[in-house]
Order: sequence, then C-alpha cells, then structure tokens
Amino acid sequence: MDLNLKDKIIIVTGGASGIGEAIVRESVKEGAIPIIVNRSLDRGKKMEEAFLAEGHACLFVQADLSEKEACRKVVDETVHKFGKIDILVNNAGYNDSVGLQDGSPEQFMESIQNNIFHYYTLAHYALPYLIKSKGNIVNISSKTAITGQGHSSAYIASKAGQLGLTREWAVELLPYGIRVNAVLPAEVMTPMYRGWLNTYDDPEAKLEEITRRIPLGQRMTKPEEIAYTVLFAASDKSAHTTGQYLFPDGGYTHLDRSIGS
Ligand code: NAP
Repeated sequence: MDLNLKDKIIIVTGGASGIGEAIVRESVKEGAIPIIVNRSLDRGKKMEEAFLAEGHACLFVQADLSEKEACRKVVDETVHKFGKIDILVNNAGYNDSVGLQDGSPEQFMESIQNNIFHYYTLAHYALPYLIKSKGNIVNISSKTAITGQGHSSAYIASKAGQLGLTREWAVELLPYGIRVNAVLPAEVMTPMYRGWLNTYDDPEAKLEEITRRIPLGQRMTKPEEIAYTVLFAASDKSAHTTGQYLFPDGGYTHLDRSIGS
C-alpha cells in the first residue's frame, strides 16, 4: 500500500528520540520530509546530517517547546524552508512523576507547560498552513490517560487533555477537511521508558512483570509499530478517519491483563 506521503512536510516533535525518532525514520522511508524538533541539540543535528548525506531532505529545529516563541519558531522555520506544512505530529513529552501527594501546584503547572501547552501552541501556529494543505494532526497521548498510573497527576492530566483536544479539534476543523487523531502507546522501550524502569531496584524483574501482562505476544510494542499507526493515520488512506483514539498496544489497555500472568 502506497501511503502517498512523498514530499509531505511532517513536523515531529521530540523527533530525535524514542517514538518520535521512529516516526521520523519511517516517514523518510515513505519519502516524506521530516522536521525533527527536539530540545537537546546533538541527536537531532546528527540525524539531520545523516539524512542529508543520504540525499533525504529534512530539517532539524532545536526548540524547548514549553516556550511559546519556540513553537512559533518551529512553524516559521519550516515554512521558510519548505513553504508548507502537511502533517503535525505532537509527540514530545516526559513523565515527570508530579503526583497529588509527591508534587506541588507549581510543579503541576510546570509539567502542564512541558507536556500539553505545546500541543495547542504548535497546532495554533501551524493551522493557517494546515488549512492551505488540507493537512492533518496526530497527537501522541498515552494509555495512562485511560487507566491512570499513580503519582503522575500532571502527566496524566496532559495525556487526557490531549485526547480532549483531539476530539475538540476534529470537530472545529471539520469545515477545513483537517483530520485530527490520537495514538496511545502503552509499553514501548524508549530512553524515557528505560529511565522510568531504572527507578526500580530490579528493572529487569519489573520489565518481565509488565511484559508478562501484555496480551498479544507478551512483549513490548516496538517504536516502529507506533510509527506505522501514526503514518497510516496521517496518510490519505485514513481519509475518513477523524477524532479517533488508536491503541497499537498488543491489547494492553482493553484486554484482560490477567491473561498470561
Ligand atoms: P523519549 O525517548 O524521552 O523522547 C521524547 C523526546 O521529546 C525527547 O527527545 C525529548 O527531548 C523531547 N522533548 C520532551 N519535552 C520537550 C520539550 N519541552 N521541548 C522539546 N522537546 C522535548 O520518550 P518516548 O517514550 O519516545 O515518548 C514520546 C511520547 O510518547 C511522549 O508523549 C510520551 O508521553 C508518549 N508515550 C510513551 C510511552 C512509552 O512506553 N515509551 C507510553 C505512552 C506514551 P530531550 O531529550 O532533549 O528532553
């Protein structure tokens, strides 16, 4: 199946690590032109250099997306270089474990600023260009938005808010033919996930305990499996799909997790 993504300009926030990196790499295989947005410099810059050396167009934009002007810069630099935006993948995020008991109102607001502010702000600044291209938006949320996790109030509020925004924007943008969907990963091995796992005394035992409960195959979802769902949702093969929550998670969120345990 040809996803018809050739030369589509796709902004991927958090595109230099984990799930975002997989989305970037798979989009290049489809002939799309990724805009890699990341807070830290090194990995994004190296990815840009490697893609350009292989003859693939792309752009790296370093930006701390908790700042409004950084979000505006991402849109401006993309349009300056390529003249259009076809797809926005809001993906950057971090589970900073700001809980109800182990957090403060100040930390809560800071986490909201880091985790959901830029989903809105990037969509806001990208919208005129998405209207022109009849583009679409994919928001990366999390199964924790549905299940909760404990000790992560601000992250879960952001992830659940992203689902609300997905439905809200799907409605608001109907007149422009702009589709908006959400993808909800559950258990995907990435630098963020590894960092969380390493907070346990025996990370490998914890990992085994989790994977045992993943119904399909008792294994983690691969980052590229999230990327395939994202790119399919963003492609015109999904032309009649909007406002949807997609769960490429081996059945972890909805099937009986006692299976296999
Ligand atoms: P990751 O490996 O840590 O990658 C996240 C990337 O986002 C990093 O490159 C990070 O850059 C960037 N980022 C974070 N905050 C940023 C900001 N304010 N401005 C610019 N860049 C920022 O994490 P991941 O596991 O791939 O997570 C990607 C998305 O999937 C997140 O939204 C997460 O909530 C969601 N998710 C993941 C899982 C999972 O199992 N891995 C499960 C559910 C949902 P720096 O390193 O420079 O900070």
